[in-house]
Amino acid sequence: MNIALIAHDKKKDNLIRFVIAYKDIFQKHSLFATGTTGKRINEETGLDLHRFKSGPLGGDQEIGSYIANDKMDLVIFFRDPLTAQPHEPDVSALIRLCDVYAVPLATNMGTAEILIKGLERGDIQWRDIQRKENNGNEG
Ligand code: PGA
Repeated sequence: MNIALIAHDKKKDNLIRFVIAYKDIFQKHSLFATGTTGKRINEETGLDLHRFKSGPLGGDQEIGSYIANDKMDLVIFFRDPLTAQPHEPDVSALIRLCDVYAVPLATNMGTAEILIKGLERGDIQWRDIQRKENNGNEG
C-alpha cells in the first residue's frame, strides 16, 4: 500500500512518535511524505520514503495528484487546528480529494491509530481490489 505522511510543524513530533510506535507496520509499505515531514521521519526512524516538496511549496498538491491518479491508499495528516497555515487552500484540497476518491484519511492520532491497526488486519485490501478492477476497465 502507498501511505502519505504529513504533519504541520507543531504536530511533527507527534507524527514521528506515532511512526516509531508502528514502525514494524510502516516498514512493510511504500511511504510518501511532504518535504520537511519526510526528512524528519527519515532521520529519526531510519525509514525510507519518497519526499515530495514541502507542504507550503506544493507538496500537499503533489500528494493530491497521487490521490487523483489512484496512487495513494491511505493518508495520515496530523493537522494543527490552532495555527493559521499559509497554504490552507492546499490542505482543504487534499482533504477534499480523499473524500472524492474514498481514500482513508486520519487527521489526528486517535483516528490514525485505528487506521493503522485496520491496515495491518487487512481492512484496506479493498483498495487493491478496486485498483485492479479500475485497471481492467481501462485496459
Ligand atoms: P512539510 O509540509 O512536511 O514540508 O512541513 C507539511 C505541511 O505543512 O503541509
